[in-house]
Parts: sequence; structure tokens; C-alpha cells
Amino acid sequence: MARFNKVLIANRGEIALRILRACQSLNISTVAVHSTIDRNLKHVGMADESVCIGPASAADSYMNIPAIIAAMEVTDAEAVHPGYGFLAENADFAERIEESGFTFIGPRAETIRLMGDKVSAIHAMSQAGVPCVPGSDGPLDDNDQRSARVAEEIGYPVLIKAAAGGGGRGMRTVHHAEDLISAIQTTRQEAENAFGDGTVYMEKFLANPRHIEIQVLADAHGHAVHLGERDCSMQRRHQKVIEEAPAPGITDEQRAHIGAVCTQACQRIGYVGAGTFEFLYENGEFYFIEMNTRIQVEHPVTECITGIDLVRAQIEIASGEPLPFGQDDIQFSGHAVECRINAEDPERFLPQPGTITAFHAPGGPGIRVDSHVYDGYTVPPNYDSMIGKLIAHGPSRKQAMTRMRVALDEMVLKGLVTNVGLHQRLIRDPGFKAGETNIHYLESKLAK
Ligand code: ADP
Repeated sequence: MARFNKVLIANRGEIALRILRACQSLNISTVAVHSTIDRNLKHVGMADESVCIGPASAADSYMNIPAIIAAMEVTDAEAVHPGYGFLAENADFAERIEESGFTFIGPRAETIRLMGDKVSAIHAMSQAGVPCVPGSDGPLDDNDQRSARVAEEIGYPVLIKAAAGGGGRGMRTVHHAEDLISAIQTTRQEAENAFGDGTVYMEKFLANPRHIEIQVLADAHGHAVHLGERDCSMQRRHQKVIEEAPAPGITDEQRAHIGAVCTQACQRIGYVGAGTFEFLYENGEFYFIEMNTRIQVEHPVTECITGIDLVRAQIEIASGEPLPFGQDDIQFSGHAVECRINAEDPERFLPQPGTITAFHAPGGPGIRVDSHVYDGYTVPPNYDSMIGKLIAHGPSRKQAMTRMRVALDEMVLKGLVTNVGLHQRLIRDPGFKAGETNIHYLESKLAK
């Protein structure tokens, strides 16, 4: 199967630019699609062709499946890269793309559907030998006594989670038996309203875990490799703020073991593409929580330590090529850290749209900036507040952190309120420097 001649990028911002760069390095022509307020995005100007697909509201543009398919038809694009967010994990989109005779750069629609429902994902993974969080082993039904029994068995506190949840929404912690039934009902109702699916399940609430995830690549010929782990414990409201690879303290043996568990699971379910197994890690044990069937925001830290271009690999896999490397060819080199730069109020974390009056990107050895912004660019209020990612790579964790500290201090970003100051404080934080974080670390630090 020949590689694609033309790829349509169904996203915006930094990830659209990242995909465009990968296409250009593969000599693939590009089509950018954009909303009416996004005409001035950097990748729109750089793409070979661009098509306006709707108004500012994401529901009418970046989520507008007929408009995207029409744009593929008029431009003769052969494949679509969905990036992350928007339609990236929408099984119906993947299915309609394939039915229209195009290629979706990502896993098969049925895989996206399986993993999009956390209950079916956990079931499939535990069948495939992946360790999961002790829990209800399926959805909770109306039998309150049974739910109470499950909670007693796994032990309080427990977490009620929406099967269709995402982006840190649709979860409720229950500390006492008397609150259980009302918490199930409220979470069910909220999930119904937010996701149109009221299915909920129960998991043990782990007290102080770290969030550690495994990156995998699997081709259409049954080969799968893992690219090691990322530690994404620095979170606020279940949203990642800083990520790093490798995870502090994880041994080569642990990595090889959990990595093999994940690649075997990929083979069991016939996974094709790039994917991430998310785990909570506590007292030396990994517990699977969900799988992401797309490229992730934090993919650059893995690229830094492995030298593998993940977006390029996604495109090659989708065009039917076999993986050009086996597990033994993957070597890990040094340490990488990423700070998500958001246009937001650092106190209340509210988005702060506005116009950039000055932007000077930092540089030097080991520094990478993935961002679409430039002097005079206006951050619109309609989308995610992330305006870029700053990534530092070094021979050791200490040197990567030092490079990040210097780069954060060097960056000039004026006209907008951002979280750069928060990152400057975190990179100097003794606990973070010592690698002692867990998923509650940032929130408890902010509370002080
Ligand atoms: P989402 O799809 O919304 O991102 P996840 O299931 O990936 O939801 O969980 C997001 C975050 O919520 C995790 O990184 C962790 O911080 C917290 N979390 C999820 N499950 C548990 C659990 N069983 N115990 C404690 N914290 C949890």
C-alpha cells in the first residue's frame, strides 16, 4: 500500500501544526480545515490547501462530520488525522470516514468504541491480563444492596465513575456507606446529562497514587511495541499540568514487565495505531484506568527519550506499513519534561483569551516548543486554553529540569495572562525536584 498523497488535518492549534510538520517531512500534501475565527492559525497559512468548515462554535466546525467529509471530497484528501480532542475518539466519525472511502489515521472504529466505554474497556483489558483497579467489574444496576456489598468488599473510600466520562469529568468519591446510593444516583444523572449515557461503575479510590501511562504503537500486521512510560501525576482537577518521561523510580524490569503486558493486550484486541494505557501506580503496583486511542498532548516527552516521531508512525501505520522497528530496537535516552502553557488566570484557572503582543520562544540544547502562537495572534475564547507546550530534554532528570527552568525564565509571552509563573514555581519546588509527587500533590500545594 502506497503512502498517502494528501492528508486532511481535522484539528486546530498546536496539534494541527504538529501534524502538518509530520506530513511535510513525509512529502505528503496537506489540507487544513478551520472555523471562521481560525483563518489566521499558523498551520492554515502553511498548508497546501485550506477549507473553512463552519462558524467559531466547535460543534458547528471541528465537530461537524459532514463538513469535514465534504472538505475531503473537494480536496481529494485520502486520509484524515484527527489529532486529540474534537473527533479524535469518536467511533462514528472513524466509521463514516472509512465508509466514505477515506482512511482514518487511528485505530479501527470498533476499537475506539470498545475503549470509549470505560466499563467495556476495563472488561476487555482484564480479560487480556492487564491489572485493573479493584471495582464493580461492570456497570452498577438499580440493586442498591448489591452496590453496597461491592463497596464493602473493595473498602471505602470508593469512586463512582461514568462509563462515558472524560476530561476528568463524571467522577465522585464516596467516603461513607450512608452516602453511597445518593452518590450513585447523582453521578448517573450527571453522566446522563453530560454524555447522554448514565452508565456508572465503581472503583476503589486509591489514596495517593501516581498517574503513569504506557505509550504503544501497533501496526496492522500484528506487531506491537511499547515506548516506555510517562508520569503525569502533576494534575489539577484531574487535568495534566506537567508530564515527564521516564517516570522517576520506575526500574527497567518494571518498565519491561508492564510494557509487555500492554503490547500483549494490543495483540489480543487487534489494536492498530498509537495508543496509551493509563494506569494509577501505588505501592509498586499498576492499576489500569483507561486507554486513549489517539495521539496525546504529552507525546513529545516520549519522542525526546526514544527519538521516534509518533505522528509520523501513526501515518505510516494507517497507510498499512509494518513497524520499522522491534522492541529491542527501542532505546531510552535521558529524561524529558513538558509544561503545558495555558492562557489562563493562574489563581482561579479560568481561560484568559486575548492578543499576544510579544512572543519570543526559548531555545538552546534540548529545548522544544510546540506552539502555534506568534506576535499579534489572538487566542479566541471558543476553544481549549492551551497555547503551547514547552519541552526540555537532558541526559539526566536533573539536567532536563534545569533546562526547563532556564527556558521558562527565558520565554517572553506578553499581552496574555498565562500559567508560566505557576510552572516557574513548580520547577523549583523541592518535592517535584525530588520526584515525590502524586495525583493530589499540586492541589494540596495550591491549597497552602
Ligand atoms: P478521564 O477520562 O476523565 O481522564 P480517568 O479515568 O483517566 O478519567 O481518570 C482521570 C484522573 O482521575 C486520574 O489521572 C486520577 O487522577 C483520578 N482517578 C481516576 N480513577 C481513580 C481511582 N480509582 N482512585 C483515585 N483517583 C482516580
